[in-house]
Amino acid sequence: MNTNYYIELEKKFGANNYHPLDVVIEKAEGVWFWDVEGNKYMDALASYSAVNQGHCHPKLIKTFVEQASKVTLTSRAFRNKQLPLLYKKLYEITKMEMFLLMNSGAEAVETAIKAARKWGYDIKGVKNNKAEIIVCANNFHGRTTTIISFSTEEEYRRGFGPFTPGFKIIEFNDIEQLEKAINENTVAFLVEPIQAEAGVYVPFHGYLKKAEEICKKNNVLFMLDEIQTGLGRTGKLFAHYYEDVNPDVIIIGKALSGGFYPVSAVLAKREVLEVFEPGTHGSTFGGNPLGCAVAQTALDVLIEENLIENSYKLGNYFKEELLKLHSSKVKEIRGKGLLIGIELFEKARPICEKLKNLGLLCKDTHGNIIRFTPPLVISKDEIDWALEKISSVLKD
Ligand SMILES: *Cc1c(COP(=O)(O)O)cnc(C)c1O
Repeated sequence: MNTNYYIELEKKFGANNYHPLDVVIEKAEGVWFWDVEGNKYMDALASYSAVNQGHCHPKLIKTFVEQASKVTLTSRAFRNKQLPLLYKKLYEITKMEMFLLMNSGAEAVETAIKAARKWGYDIKGVKNNKAEIIVCANNFHGRTTTIISFSTEEEYRRGFGPFTPGFKIIEFNDIEQLEKAINENTVAFLVEPIQAEAGVYVPFHGYLKKAEEICKKNNVLFMLDEIQTGLGRTGKLFAHYYEDVNPDVIIIGKALSGGFYPVSAVLAKREVLEVFEPGTHGSTFGGNPLGCAVAQTALDVLIEENLIENSYKLGNYFKEELLKLHSSKVKEIRGKGLLIGIELFEKARPICEKLKNLGLLCKDTHGNIIRFTPPLVISKDEIDWALEKISSVLKD
């Protein structure tokens, strides 16, 4: 069966909410994909940073198969041994005090929103149903009805109202607006340390620190969505490690699963997650033993294989080499570690199509931006290989 067979089948039955490149993947290893016709491609997207550990990592396969043959799901009606072991590892690595496991990133964001609201009523003393959360324009926090309620992307919202109230939108990278937006009902400021989905927008150095200070001064929770920027992507364990900040809540997902099995988590100070009592929140699959076993190994791989340092080093190298191309097609190159955005003066999709034909798979975002986020296991030779392809399509 060839590529077209699968594409036609997908078009016939699948909801049309995606616009994928027309390549049908059959298997993968490390940074490489093979399609159904045996063509080989480099994956320069890493499933939006969910596969930081590289595809089909042997240690993750081992954990996955071993745990799957023991027990996969208990629900939280009973206890399983992998959940507390994951808590312990998360504590050792992040030093956050309490954890709540979910599945997708959006669910973890929803969980953080609920925690912040309840903290507002129970601890801060905000009047019932008055809680406000401040968010930033061009944010991306997921696709649930509540989360799109505070998106500024028309495409994400059109046709999906009515929306959830209780959110105030300010400009990203603007401290003055944050200060002005806070009032006695503000319970949290929810922000991405780098706006990845929006097109890899890096705020000025000191933005997070100033935002944190304002939050602390006003008794407002400082909540970072590190679902895409976290777990080594930007060259540090968390993108906020570039600044000396101490968030009240960190939300992670994506690479916590190593691409194997959806796992997300809210990491927080005790005071925040303590507001949940039995019955107030839950998820059938959240905290399941298979996901928790996979997440422990996914974290081990990041650290044991120095993937965070590799992201830092090769990310810097990649960016420097891209700058050296001096292509007149390129408006700006942005990012940290292996989270790199190339903003073009022209449409990015045709460039991504050309790169696909050269064996390099990456994704356009917002029309004229290409995002390069390869698995963090990538080597310098592989980066050089990618640079050669990129240089050939960006040539004038
Ligand atoms: C991907 C992403 C999410 C949503 O995660 P899902 O697993 O797709 O629900 C939320 N926030 C950020 C910053 C993301 O990159």
